Amino acid sequence: MTDETTQAGIERIARALAAGGRNVVFTGAGISTESGIPDYRSKGGIWERFKPVMYDDFLRSREARAEYWRRKAELYDDFAKARPNPAHEALAALHAMGRLEAVITQNVDGLHQDAGVPDDAVVEVHGSARRIRCLSCGDLIPIDDVYRRLREGDEAPECDCGGFLKPDTISFGQGLDAATLERAVALSRAADCFLVIGSTLLVHPAATMPVHAKYNGAFLAIVNLSDTEYDEDSDVVLRGKAGVLLPAILHAVQAIVAEGASGS
Ligand code: ZN
Repeated sequence: MTDETTQAGIERIARALAAGGRNVVFTGAGISTESGIPDYRSKGGIWERFKPVMYDDFLRSREARAEYWRRKAELYDDFAKARPNPAHEALAALHAMGRLEAVITQNVDGLHQDAGVPDDAVVEVHGSARRIRCLSCGDLIPIDDVYRRLREGDEAPECDCGGFLKPDTISFGQGLDAATLERAVALSRAADCFLVIGSTLLVHPAATMPVHAKYNGAFLAIVNLSDTEYDEDSDVVLRGKAGVLLPAILHAVQAIVAEGASGS
């Protein structure tokens, strides 16, 4: 893709975002790799080296829980150090301008909120690694407490009630939260402009959101480094880094809005 066609694509996406309809963004691992969060499912990702701990095994076996937590502890530093990158910041700026209703995300890293998108505008379809929850009583436990206990030798931390503690993420073999999924579908169906960033749209059912949007008449755009499932159904596809393209889109939206305000 030449720079000219990239620029034309940026302009088309910006015009759709500035049009005043309902704008929804869907993000995947690709937006966070530039923040140092590994893409677990990609080639060379961690799941090629380790078989994931399945949810049923987590519930059944203390050894599986210990193995699960050993891996979490290894990844904890990546999560703790990660900061929002210019793509997250551009989305937060769009939200602050009133040009982004919600972010639906497959990511569990909380970086959209760190960038300034309010919690209630982020729909985390795979949950959040920022929360540790008791699987029995549902209590939330401060994440630092749990990692301190792991460091002190507690291999599979449990709640005071005896329930198993687990990051509030959707594990392999575990169903998505029904209410969260419903909200994501409703937002996708109602969207006038639906922008996919950093997802190859392979992980279902989350990845069917662009289909809901497109079937209900949304302008569909995709920003990703590689091909995706829905490139052919999209109005615009941009290949490249989210951290470069999103700020460019934001600037184009700002220019269009400023032009409108000046009455020209
Ligand atoms: Zn409990």
